[in-house]
Amino acid sequence: MVSLRSTRPSRLIRDSARWFSEGTRLKREARLARRCVACHATLESRRTPYCSRLCQWRFQGGYFWDAARTYAFHRDRFTCQACHRRYRRPQLEVDHIVEIARGGAPLDPANLQTLCHRCHREKTRAFLRGRRGEAGASSGTAHGARAVGTFDVAEWFPA
Ligand SMILES: [Zn+2]
Ligand SMILES: [Zn+2]
Repeated sequence: MVSLRSTRPSRLIRDSARWFSEGTRLKREARLARRCVACHATLESRRTPYCSRLCQWRFQGGYFWDAARTYAFHRDRFTCQACHRRYRRPQLEVDHIVEIARGGAPLDPANLQTLCHRCHREKTRAFLRGRRGEAGASSGTAHGARAVGTFDVAEWFPA
């Protein structure tokens, strides 16, 4: 169980409020401009900011991920969970402990950890080495031998 007590709630709320209001603003502007908020295609009406269900999932998926990531940064106190050094936010990434490709939960905070770029690179390299090993052992569906350390909405909601 993840405790919220370890993080300063005011910062968490401020950061969360920022991505939330940002999403609301983008959707409103998209409706007014009649452009899909995700792919910028022209919309038939101002009723919704999405041209399709897929674009809705893409956009919302991105925002859920922002929320989960913001939470992980604060919970881990902006400290790399591998080398235990503190960094500024641009130097940090949120990593899936169990990679999505291996069935890890994409948005479960228990599956997220903060890593610095260097530690994240090392983890991704080890992951790819492991994948190559697996591919050699099994009959090898060459498909999917990609790094999934960082989030890509397109992978979640493939077109
Ligand atoms: Zn669209
Ligand atoms: Zn590190």
